[in-house]
Amino acid sequence: MLKPNAHYKELKDSYLFYHIAQKTKGYLDAHPDTHLLRLGIGDVSQPLCKAAIDALHRAVDDQADAATFHGYMPECGAPFLRETIAAHYAKRGVALRPDEVFVSSGASDELGDILDLFDRGSTVLIPEPAYPAYVDANVMAGHKIVHLPTGKENGFLPRPEAAAQADVIYLCSPNNPTGAVLSRAQLQTWVDFANDCGAVILFDAAYEAFIEDDNLPHSIFELPGARTCAIEICSLSKTAGFTGTRLGYTVIPQTLERCGQALNAMWVRNRTTKTNGISYILQRGGAAVFSEEGQTQTRAQIAVYKSNARLLTDALDELGLWYTGGKNAPYIWLQCPHGLSSWEFFDLLLQQAQIVGTPGAGFGACGEGYFRFSCFGSPADTAEAAKRLRSVCGK
Ligand code: PLP
Repeated sequence: MLKPNAHYKELKDSYLFYHIAQKTKGYLDAHPDTHLLRLGIGDVSQPLCKAAIDALHRAVDDQADAATFHGYMPECGAPFLRETIAAHYAKRGVALRPDEVFVSSGASDELGDILDLFDRGSTVLIPEPAYPAYVDANVMAGHKIVHLPTGKENGFLPRPEAAAQADVIYLCSPNNPTGAVLSRAQLQTWVDFANDCGAVILFDAAYEAFIEDDNLPHSIFELPGARTCAIEICSLSKTAGFTGTRLGYTVIPQTLERCGQALNAMWVRNRTTKTNGISYILQRGGAAVFSEEGQTQTRAQIAVYKSNARLLTDALDELGLWYTGGKNAPYIWLQCPHGLSSWEFFDLLLQQAQIVGTPGAGFGACGEGYFRFSCFGSPADTAEAAKRLRSVCGK
């Protein structure tokens, strides 16, 4: 008799998004003509930039001609894209070899798949509040999870300490859901800690493109020592609107080894076994994002989300509510007013302002009493939400 993976029984129901959907549906059933202002979702609203669209069209045409047609692509990524990404890092002073860059179909896929590199008995440290997939992927893998709560007192930024002993450490900066960003010095303490104890940091840089302060690190590899303790997982989803197109990349330095095994070589073995590469067409579209034209155009899209963030933070500043994020990140994490719980504030905003946000309690116990706004919505809806927020929370 087949024995299924019993760890699936340990997974908690994805209560957060299910419950949001149920409550939202209930409200719409009772008020069918309402236009809800959706500041809950982390999906983008701006279309792909012209440079990417043009490259995608050209790549489709390539596939129509035997002379330019591509069949299976190299499993770890097309050389043209691996070189382009390495050159992009070089502009920030990070020297990578193209064979240290692996093209992926997105950060979510990689965050789960990469666990193949680690022993099943590994202990994994997850600072919270956290992107829910970190916990679930590790529950499925049977890993021991150590939760590291953060809070207002440390700006929701995790710090290494005795409790942080683990084999694998997740760091997400800029963070989802808090929008908090690790400074160079704070990230350096993690790099030093991981090198000292032999842990590997999984650095989720899905929101690096939102960083505007020059002194904040976009990549963990900007820091000395990271090449011996870190893997960086990145995505074009939020950088360039690829959530529905799907493209990402993972950086594993050749110098990252544990117990005599090189993690880069192990990942090559993994990818060449478990994938047949990413579509040629998508990789051409992705390469165009890194062109000068693509960078200018994607920066303009990000500016739209940043101006959404400003509309909301201006309202929060006026209301005197405490928050992190919104400046170098597309998320704002605020303390619920009047001591309300996350779900009480959710209900208040839905009922009185027709705003849908995300209750902080859904990202870990230490998120209770906090709330996440996403800045990826339409500017008109965000402006209206800021107006209603002033009126509802100002009472
Ligand atoms: N990592 C974080 C922190 C995210 O918030 C998300 C998506 O919301 C992802 C990874 C997944 O990105 P992708 O669309 O590349 O799978």
